[in-house]
Amino acid sequence: MVDLVVVGSVALDSVKTPFGDVKDILGGAATYSSVAASIFCKPGLVGVVGKDFPSEHMEFLRARNIETSGLSVAEGKTFRWSGYYEYDMNQAHTTDTQLNVFSSFKPKVPDAYLGAKYLFLANIDPVLQLDVLRQFKDLELVALDTMNFWIETKKEELLSVISKVDVLLINDAEARQLMDTPNLVRAARMLLKRGPSAVVIKKGEHGALLFTDGVCFFAPAYPLEDLKDPTGAGDSFAGGLMGYLASTGDVSFENMKRAVIYGSAVASFNAEDFSLDRLRQIGMKDVSGRYKEFEKLVEF
Ligand code: AMP
Repeated sequence: MVDLVVVGSVALDSVKTPFGDVKDILGGAATYSSVAASIFCKPGLVGVVGKDFPSEHMEFLRARNIETSGLSVAEGKTFRWSGYYEYDMNQAHTTDTQLNVFSSFKPKVPDAYLGAKYLFLANIDPVLQLDVLRQFKDLELVALDTMNFWIETKKEELLSVISKVDVLLINDAEARQLMDTPNLVRAARMLLKRGPSAVVIKKGEHGALLFTDGVCFFAPAYPLEDLKDPTGAGDSFAGGLMGYLASTGDVSFENMKRAVIYGSAVASFNAEDFSLDRLRQIGMKDVSGRYKEFEKLVEF
Protein backbone atom coordinates (compact mmCIF):
# COMPACT_ATOMS: atom_id res chain seq x y z
CA MET A 1 0.00 0.00 0.00
CA VAL A 2 1.19 3.50 -0.86
CA ASP A 3 1.36 5.91 2.13
CA LEU A 4 2.33 9.09 0.30
CA VAL A 5 1.75 10.06 -3.32
CA VAL A 6 4.33 12.37 -4.93
CA VAL A 7 3.81 14.11 -8.27
CA GLY A 8 6.47 16.32 -9.85
CA SER A 9 9.41 16.42 -12.21
CA VAL A 10 11.58 13.38 -12.84
CA ALA A 11 14.58 14.78 -14.62
CA LEU A 12 18.01 14.54 -16.11
CA ASP A 13 19.95 17.51 -14.71
CA SER A 14 23.17 19.21 -15.77
CA VAL A 15 24.67 21.02 -12.82
CA LYS A 16 27.78 23.08 -12.20
CA THR A 17 28.91 24.09 -8.71
CA PRO A 18 32.35 25.29 -7.50
CA PHE A 19 33.00 21.59 -6.70
CA GLY A 20 32.19 19.91 -10.00
CA ASP A 21 30.35 19.84 -13.29
CA VAL A 22 27.97 16.97 -14.20
CA LYS A 23 25.74 16.26 -17.23
CA ASP A 24 22.40 14.44 -17.54
CA ILE A 25 22.42 13.01 -14.04
CA LEU A 26 19.34 11.76 -12.20
CA GLY A 27 17.31 14.65 -10.71
CA GLY A 28 13.84 16.11 -10.55
CA ALA A 29 11.70 17.36 -7.69
CA ALA A 30 9.62 14.16 -7.42
CA THR A 31 12.73 11.99 -7.58
CA TYR A 32 14.45 13.75 -4.67
CA SER A 33 11.23 13.93 -2.64
CA SER A 34 10.20 10.32 -3.08
CA VAL A 35 13.67 8.97 -2.35
CA ALA A 36 13.83 11.15 0.81
CA ALA A 37 10.31 10.05 1.84
CA SER A 38 11.20 6.38 1.28
CA ILE A 39 13.37 6.56 4.41
CA PHE A 40 10.13 6.87 6.42
CA CYS A 41 7.26 5.34 4.41
CA LYS A 42 6.20 3.88 1.07
CA PRO A 43 5.84 6.58 -1.58
CA GLY A 44 4.09 6.26 -4.96
CA LEU A 45 5.42 8.37 -7.83
CA VAL A 46 3.28 10.10 -10.46
CA GLY A 47 5.16 11.55 -13.42
CA VAL A 48 6.55 10.85 -16.85
CA VAL A 49 9.95 10.16 -18.38
CA GLY A 50 11.04 9.75 -21.99
CA LYS A 51 12.39 6.68 -23.70
CA ASP A 52 15.91 8.04 -23.04
CA PHE A 53 15.53 7.62 -19.25
CA PRO A 54 18.20 5.10 -18.21
CA SER A 55 16.73 1.82 -16.92
CA GLU A 56 19.19 1.82 -14.02
CA HIS A 57 17.40 4.92 -12.60
CA MET A 58 14.06 3.11 -12.74
CA GLU A 59 15.62 0.11 -11.00
CA PHE A 60 17.11 2.37 -8.33
CA LEU A 61 13.68 3.89 -7.56
CA ARG A 62 12.09 0.45 -7.27
CA ALA A 63 14.93 -0.77 -5.08
CA ARG A 64 14.12 2.11 -2.69
CA ASN A 65 10.63 0.63 -2.25
CA ILE A 66 9.05 3.41 -4.32
CA GLU A 67 5.93 2.42 -6.26
CA THR A 68 6.47 3.38 -9.91
CA SER A 69 3.26 2.20 -11.61
CA GLY A 70 2.26 5.91 -11.84
CA LEU A 71 5.52 6.85 -13.59
CA SER A 72 4.84 6.56 -17.34
CA VAL A 73 7.38 6.19 -20.08
CA ALA A 74 6.40 8.26 -23.14
CA GLU A 75 7.79 8.79 -26.65
CA GLY A 76 10.18 11.72 -26.51
CA LYS A 77 12.81 13.11 -24.18
CA THR A 78 12.89 13.26 -20.39
CA PHE A 79 12.48 16.66 -18.64
CA ARG A 80 15.85 18.41 -18.49
CA TRP A 81 17.10 21.18 -16.21
CA SER A 82 20.49 22.89 -16.35
CA GLY A 83 21.79 25.26 -13.76
CA TYR A 84 24.78 26.49 -11.82
CA TYR A 85 25.71 27.81 -8.39
CA GLU A 86 28.43 30.26 -7.42
CA TYR A 87 29.96 30.43 -3.93
CA ASP A 88 26.58 31.52 -2.55
CA MET A 89 24.95 28.13 -2.94
CA ASN A 90 21.59 29.42 -1.71
CA GLN A 91 20.97 30.78 -5.17
CA ALA A 92 20.43 28.39 -8.11
CA HIS A 93 20.85 30.00 -11.54
CA THR A 94 18.78 28.24 -14.21
CA THR A 95 20.35 28.21 -17.67
CA ASP A 96 17.83 25.91 -19.38
CA THR A 97 14.50 24.17 -18.66
CA GLN A 98 13.14 21.67 -21.20
CA LEU A 99 9.73 20.31 -20.22
CA ASN A 100 9.87 17.70 -23.02
CA VAL A 101 7.48 14.79 -22.18
CA PHE A 102 5.94 16.85 -19.34
CA SER A 103 4.48 19.38 -21.81
CA SER A 104 1.82 16.90 -22.96
CA PHE A 105 1.52 14.77 -19.81
CA LYS A 106 -2.00 13.92 -18.62
CA PRO A 107 -1.55 12.33 -15.19
CA LYS A 108 -3.70 9.34 -14.28
CA VAL A 109 -3.31 8.34 -10.64
CA PRO A 110 -3.27 4.50 -10.45
CA ASP A 111 -6.11 2.96 -8.39
CA ALA A 112 -3.49 1.43 -6.10
CA TYR A 113 -2.47 4.96 -4.98
CA LEU A 114 -5.96 6.27 -4.22
CA GLY A 115 -6.04 4.93 -0.65
CA ALA A 116 -3.06 7.13 0.34
CA LYS A 117 -3.88 9.85 2.87
CA TYR A 118 -0.92 12.10 2.11
CA LEU A 119 -0.19 13.90 -1.16
CA PHE A 120 2.85 15.95 -2.06
CA LEU A 121 2.52 18.17 -5.12
CA ALA A 122 6.22 18.63 -5.80
CA ASN A 123 7.52 21.24 -8.19
CA ILE A 124 5.91 21.02 -11.66
CA ASP A 125 3.26 22.83 -13.72
CA PRO A 126 0.46 23.92 -11.29
CA VAL A 127 -2.12 22.72 -13.83
CA LEU A 128 -0.75 19.18 -13.43
CA GLN A 129 -0.64 19.58 -9.65
CA LEU A 130 -4.34 20.49 -9.64
CA ASP A 131 -5.19 17.66 -12.02
CA VAL A 132 -3.61 15.13 -9.62
CA LEU A 133 -5.18 16.70 -6.53
CA ARG A 134 -8.65 16.43 -8.15
CA GLN A 135 -8.29 12.65 -8.51
CA PHE A 136 -8.27 12.14 -4.71
CA LYS A 137 -11.31 12.20 -2.43
CA ASP A 138 -10.21 11.52 1.08
CA LEU A 139 -6.83 13.05 1.94
CA GLU A 140 -5.48 13.83 5.40
CA LEU A 141 -2.86 16.36 4.26
CA VAL A 142 -1.77 17.92 0.97
CA ALA A 143 1.48 19.89 0.61
CA LEU A 144 2.77 21.84 -2.39
CA ASP A 145 6.14 23.16 -3.52
CA THR A 146 6.90 25.39 -6.49
CA MET A 147 9.57 27.67 -7.95
CA ASN A 148 10.16 30.97 -9.77
CA PHE A 149 9.66 29.36 -13.22
CA TRP A 150 5.97 28.69 -12.42
CA ILE A 151 5.48 31.97 -10.53
CA GLU A 152 6.63 33.76 -13.69
CA THR A 153 4.71 31.69 -16.25
CA LYS A 154 1.54 30.42 -14.45
CA LYS A 155 0.90 32.65 -11.44
CA GLU A 156 -2.93 32.53 -11.52
CA GLU A 157 -3.00 28.73 -11.88
CA LEU A 158 -0.45 28.46 -9.06
CA LEU A 159 -2.48 30.67 -6.70
CA SER A 160 -5.54 28.60 -7.52
CA VAL A 161 -3.90 25.29 -6.51
CA ILE A 162 -2.30 26.94 -3.44
CA SER A 163 -5.82 27.83 -2.25
CA LYS A 164 -6.62 24.08 -2.08
CA VAL A 165 -3.62 22.74 -0.13
CA ASP A 166 -2.88 22.45 3.62
CA VAL A 167 0.86 23.13 3.59
CA LEU A 168 2.81 25.39 1.24
CA LEU A 169 6.59 24.93 1.04
CA ILE A 170 8.41 27.74 -0.71
CA ASN A 171 11.85 29.31 -0.58
CA ASP A 172 12.42 32.83 0.71
CA ALA A 173 13.07 34.54 -2.65
CA GLU A 174 10.01 32.87 -4.18
CA ALA A 175 7.75 33.83 -1.25
CA ARG A 176 8.81 37.46 -1.70
CA GLN A 177 8.30 37.24 -5.47
CA LEU A 178 4.87 35.57 -5.23
CA MET A 179 3.47 37.99 -2.62
CA ASP A 180 5.38 40.99 -3.97
CA THR A 181 6.80 42.05 -0.62
CA PRO A 182 10.37 42.15 0.73
CA ASN A 183 9.25 41.07 4.22
CA LEU A 184 9.11 37.31 4.84
CA VAL A 185 6.81 37.44 7.87
CA ARG A 186 4.36 39.51 5.89
CA ALA A 187 4.71 37.20 2.86
CA ALA A 188 3.95 34.18 5.08
CA ARG A 189 0.90 35.90 6.55
CA MET A 190 -0.36 36.83 3.09
CA LEU A 191 0.17 33.25 1.89
CA LEU A 192 -1.74 31.85 4.88
CA LYS A 193 -4.69 34.05 3.84
CA ARG A 194 -4.65 32.37 0.42
CA GLY A 195 -5.72 29.00 1.87
CA PRO A 196 -2.96 26.83 3.42
CA SER A 197 -3.06 26.33 7.20
CA ALA A 198 0.76 26.14 7.33
CA VAL A 199 3.50 27.82 5.30
CA VAL A 200 7.11 26.67 5.43
CA ILE A 201 9.64 29.19 4.16
CA LYS A 202 12.95 27.55 3.23
CA LYS A 203 16.03 29.71 3.64
CA GLY A 204 18.74 27.35 2.38
CA GLU A 205 21.77 27.33 4.69
CA HIS A 206 19.85 29.64 7.05
CA GLY A 207 17.21 27.05 7.92
CA ALA A 208 13.44 27.09 7.62
CA LEU A 209 10.50 28.91 9.21
CA LEU A 210 7.17 27.21 9.83
CA PHE A 211 4.22 29.57 10.11
CA THR A 212 0.68 28.74 11.12
CA ASP A 213 -1.99 31.16 12.27
CA GLY A 214 -0.28 33.24 14.97
CA VAL A 215 2.63 30.81 15.63
CA CYS A 216 6.11 30.57 14.15
CA PHE A 217 8.76 27.86 14.56
CA PHE A 218 12.36 28.19 13.40
CA ALA A 219 14.62 25.27 12.45
CA PRO A 220 18.29 25.88 11.67
CA ALA A 221 20.04 24.17 8.77
CA TYR A 222 22.73 21.66 9.72
CA PRO A 223 26.11 23.43 9.53
CA LEU A 224 27.77 21.40 6.77
CA GLU A 225 31.47 21.57 6.06
CA ASP A 226 31.29 19.31 3.01
CA LEU A 227 28.72 20.87 0.74
CA LYS A 228 29.05 19.93 -2.95
CA ASP A 229 25.67 20.40 -4.64
CA PRO A 230 22.53 21.87 -3.06
CA THR A 231 20.28 20.75 -5.97
CA GLY A 232 17.30 18.91 -4.56
CA ALA A 233 17.78 20.24 -1.02
CA GLY A 234 14.28 21.76 -1.03
CA ASP A 235 12.78 18.59 -2.47
CA SER A 236 14.51 16.24 -0.07
CA PHE A 237 13.50 18.55 2.80
CA ALA A 238 9.88 18.27 1.67
CA GLY A 239 10.14 14.52 1.09
CA GLY A 240 11.59 13.96 4.57
CA LEU A 241 8.93 16.18 6.14
CA MET A 242 6.02 14.52 4.32
CA GLY A 243 7.45 11.01 4.71
CA TYR A 244 7.71 11.52 8.47
CA LEU A 245 4.15 12.92 8.72
CA ALA A 246 2.77 10.02 6.65
CA SER A 247 4.62 7.46 8.78
CA THR A 248 3.31 8.90 12.05
CA GLY A 249 -0.20 9.84 10.88
CA ASP A 250 -0.06 12.88 13.15
CA VAL A 251 -0.49 16.34 11.60
CA SER A 252 -0.51 18.33 14.86
CA PHE A 253 1.67 21.45 15.06
CA GLU A 254 3.99 19.70 17.57
CA ASN A 255 4.57 16.83 15.14
CA MET A 256 4.94 19.24 12.23
CA LYS A 257 7.89 20.79 14.11
CA ARG A 258 9.56 17.36 14.36
CA ALA A 259 8.81 16.81 10.66
CA VAL A 260 10.60 20.08 9.79
CA ILE A 261 13.70 18.84 11.67
CA TYR A 262 13.56 15.43 9.93
CA GLY A 263 13.25 17.23 6.59
CA SER A 264 16.25 19.42 7.45
CA ALA A 265 18.28 16.36 8.44
CA VAL A 266 17.61 14.55 5.13
CA ALA A 267 18.27 17.74 3.10
CA SER A 268 21.64 18.21 4.81
CA PHE A 269 22.79 14.75 3.67
CA ASN A 270 21.60 15.41 0.14
CA ALA A 271 23.83 18.48 -0.26
CA GLU A 272 26.97 16.49 0.55
CA ASP A 273 27.19 15.08 -3.00
CA PHE A 274 25.86 15.51 -6.55
CA SER A 275 22.53 14.13 -7.74
CA LEU A 276 21.09 11.55 -5.29
CA ASP A 277 24.47 10.01 -4.61
CA ARG A 278 24.44 10.75 -0.88
CA LEU A 279 20.76 9.85 -0.42
CA ARG A 280 21.53 6.47 -1.97
CA GLN A 281 23.77 5.65 0.98
CA ILE A 282 21.69 6.73 3.98
CA GLY A 283 18.90 5.17 6.02
CA MET A 284 16.85 5.81 9.15
CA LYS A 285 19.83 5.29 11.46
CA ASP A 286 21.81 8.12 9.83
CA VAL A 287 18.80 10.43 9.83
CA SER A 288 18.02 9.74 13.50
CA GLY A 289 21.65 10.47 14.37
CA ARG A 290 21.51 13.83 12.65
CA TYR A 291 18.11 14.58 14.25
CA LYS A 292 19.82 14.21 17.65
CA GLU A 293 22.59 16.58 16.51
CA PHE A 294 19.91 19.13 15.64
CA GLU A 295 18.57 18.83 19.18
CA LYS A 296 22.02 19.63 20.56
CA LEU A 297 22.44 22.49 18.12
CA VAL A 298 19.51 24.47 19.51
CA GLU A 299 19.62 23.46 23.19
CA PHE A 300 20.67 26.22 25.56
P1 AMP B 1 15.52 22.19 -5.58
O1 AMP B 1 15.08 21.34 -4.43
O2 AMP B 1 14.79 23.49 -5.64
O3 AMP B 1 17.02 22.34 -5.64
O4 AMP B 1 15.06 21.41 -6.92
C1 AMP B 1 15.95 20.95 -7.90
C2 AMP B 1 15.22 20.06 -8.88
O5 AMP B 1 14.12 20.74 -9.47
C3 AMP B 1 16.14 19.65 -10.04
O6 AMP B 1 16.48 18.29 -9.93
C4 AMP B 1 15.33 19.97 -11.31
O7 AMP B 1 15.25 18.87 -12.19
C5 AMP B 1 13.96 20.35 -10.81
N1 AMP B 1 13.40 21.50 -11.54
C6 AMP B 1 14.06 22.58 -12.02
N2 AMP B 1 13.22 23.44 -12.64
C7 AMP B 1 11.98 22.87 -12.56
C8 AMP B 1 10.67 23.28 -13.00
N3 AMP B 1 10.47 24.42 -13.67
N4 AMP B 1 9.63 22.45 -12.71
C9 AMP B 1 9.83 21.30 -12.05
N5 AMP B 1 11.03 20.88 -11.61
C10 AMP B 1 12.10 21.64 -11.86
